[in-house]
Amino acid sequence: MLKPENANSAGACAVSLPEYFDQGALVAVLTTQPLGRALDYRAPEGGCRPGAYVEVPLGPRKVLGVVWGSGQGDYDLSKIRSVSRVLDVAPMRDEMRAFLERAADYTLTPMPAMLRMATRAPGLGDPPSMRRVYRRGPQEPNKMTAARRKVLEALAEYGDLSFTLRELAEMAGVGTSVVKGLVAQGAVLEEDSPRDLPFARLDPDLPGKTLTEDQQAGADRLAEAVRSERYGTTLLRGVTGSGKTEVYLEAVAAALRAGRQALVLLPEIALTAEFLTRVEERFGTRPAEWHSGATMTERRRIWRMVGEGQAQLVIGARSALFLPYQNLGLIVVDEEHDTSYKQEEGVLYNARDMAVLRASICGAHVVLASATPSLETWANAEAGKYERLDLPSRFGPAVMPEMRAIDMRAESLPSTRWISDALKHAVDQRLERGEQAMLFINRRGYAPITLCRACGHQIGCDHCDARMVEHRFLKRLVCHQCGETKPMPEKCPSCEVEGKLAPVGPGVERLGEEAAALFPEARIATLSSDMYGTARALKEEIVSIAEGGADIIIGTQLVAKGHNFPQLTLVGVIDADLGLQGSDLRAAERTFQLMRQVAGRAGRAEAPGTAVLQTYQPEHPVIRAILGGEEERFWAAEAREREAAGVPPYGRMAGIILSGTDVAQVFDAGNLLARQDRALRSIGAQVFGPAPAPVARVRGRHRVRLLVKAEKSAPLQAALSSWVAQLRLRGDLRVAVDIDPQSFY
Ligand code: ADP
Ligand code: ZN
Repeated sequence: MLKPENANSAGACAVSLPEYFDQGALVAVLTTQPLGRALDYRAPEGGCRPGAYVEVPLGPRKVLGVVWGSGQGDYDLSKIRSVSRVLDVAPMRDEMRAFLERAADYTLTPMPAMLRMATRAPGLGDPPSMRRVYRRGPQEPNKMTAARRKVLEALAEYGDLSFTLRELAEMAGVGTSVVKGLVAQGAVLEEDSPRDLPFARLDPDLPGKTLTEDQQAGADRLAEAVRSERYGTTLLRGVTGSGKTEVYLEAVAAALRAGRQALVLLPEIALTAEFLTRVEERFGTRPAEWHSGATMTERRRIWRMVGEGQAQLVIGARSALFLPYQNLGLIVVDEEHDTSYKQEEGVLYNARDMAVLRASICGAHVVLASATPSLETWANAEAGKYERLDLPSRFGPAVMPEMRAIDMRAESLPSTRWISDALKHAVDQRLERGEQAMLFINRRGYAPITLCRACGHQIGCDHCDARMVEHRFLKRLVCHQCGETKPMPEKCPSCEVEGKLAPVGPGVERLGEEAAALFPEARIATLSSDMYGTARALKEEIVSIAEGGADIIIGTQLVAKGHNFPQLTLVGVIDADLGLQGSDLRAAERTFQLMRQVAGRAGRAEAPGTAVLQTYQPEHPVIRAILGGEEERFWAAEAREREAAGVPPYGRMAGIILSGTDVAQVFDAGNLLARQDRALRSIGAQVFGPAPAPVARVRGRHRVRLLVKAEKSAPLQAALSSWVAQLRLRGDLRVAVDIDPQSFY
């Protein structure tokens, strides 16, 4: 886990810098190009400030960079070129530079890659100018066509925003002539507008909801923490529906009143229209929305306005952490346990941990909100590093769902069915009453487990505490931890009954088929991120379901995240065992969180909810903790086990992924690292592997993984750097280091 800086040490790691570089002075410019270091240039006419965003010549091109400090002067002075120009954007602040450097050190990421993350907006160098934009006009079209309706709906979804012609046509999925046709009729207005308009001011003093006593007490504590303008982190824990969002919006209000900016991070998929509407109701206008679906124009606008302090509140996915805030006073990480905060490609970082780092550098407060916090966060609160606020009950008449288990050993289901009679019966009751039911299948991971339907045994690896995973193509079982493989056995290695071994875990689509056969009258909606072309289509589907557009919802993980389905009163978890016995050290924690979250979907409105867990192991401690609602006991037990095993958060881990097109070369490199482990042994760390990586081949590249385990206090990053530096990266061999890996498969 990252150690936060003291609040007042902002910029401590940047060497002390002159205030200004006069024309011709040697400056070091960090560019976004993958070079080993910052390059020397001469300050341009008029000089430049440290932190200035500049364009510099690099070979025949001009590239984006930031004046990082004084030049090194170790390069032929006669060959040094001048900075081409200083861009017309607010310079990077010291605290941002410190943040990028600390984050780079922690994640072992080269600085150019960090700078790329901090400049993810197009056209930063463009001068302010006018452009032609389109927004909703006062008229209705004389004739409504499907294409026209799509344009108007796209505009309606984004409220008052304007778009360029291309953006609007793309969003609506129509040709530009459709938009032009609407302009001719006054249904869409065409205007020239300056780029990058400031965001409308949010009003923290609008009357919010009347908070309950518990909520108010929590809101007051958070507001006070924000007003202190000192770094601190609070775990805001409360069951789904207890009003955590209402409470942290008051912390946002406190930041706005103090004239500081606020950032609310959400898992990408939870960035719903519903959430934005709530923010708008509270503050009177829409905040800046930063996510992968945002248009280029909007990204550029947000980036600039955040830097000028003209965007007070940003709601965003994890990369919003790298925007150039001018005066950040609060970071909320909602659903802080969510695995999507860990970026698993490119720069490998955990946005939750980086939020804490960033806040500690700029004196902001962090709120980590969750119904089921990560063990890391729970342990930090236990240790007194984080404050902890609990919202004990659901708001209003909604009560926690009743939880019960269905013992699948007693249900003699044919091997092609996963919905037990007991669950079917419960769904039938909901259908009769006109309520909604959800069937949830945990498809985490991509390979099923192999289970004996006679005795419940799951085939494990002989060498690791890990399940064997069926590989259909190879017709073998493979352990992803150690690489061991064996043929699929005919009979159960435990009870020796033949012909009962079966892969468990149908996909959502297969489950959908089963549901369609069992409930022929019901309207069934299957929700899985891969089934929707765009995030917007998925959002639309979710809105329609919330309005009653389906009787049965079948979904993967994503439905467990933060959506509000008021008519939902039953959640059936198809396979509560999936993930319980993995090689993943967080398997128990994930299962616990997921089950609690899924169960939290039921009965959010007036009607009471029921959550039913189908399990082959009703006596398993995790299943019992879920059913009994004994959360503290679960965490305490889980913490003891991890402490005894010396694994995070009580020890440190890193994953090393080697990849290349030549499988032998990749394995050779892995074996070489495993043998030459002196740098690691000197700090008492151990190496495991190499083994095939979670996804053993991606786009034609083979991937091999090593795991490193060390004590909590060990200087892991330094040892890893010198260890990995032994590799000679020939050909297309690449190495990536993943500090605090989240997925172990
Ligand atoms: P959480 O974030 O903990 O899941 P929410 O803040 O989303 O909880 O609250 C759940 C629902 O209850 C929301 O629809 C919210 O508007 C409503 N709610 C919570 N607290 C209040 C309150 N004090 N007054 C009115 N409605 C509330
Ligand atoms: Zn068996």
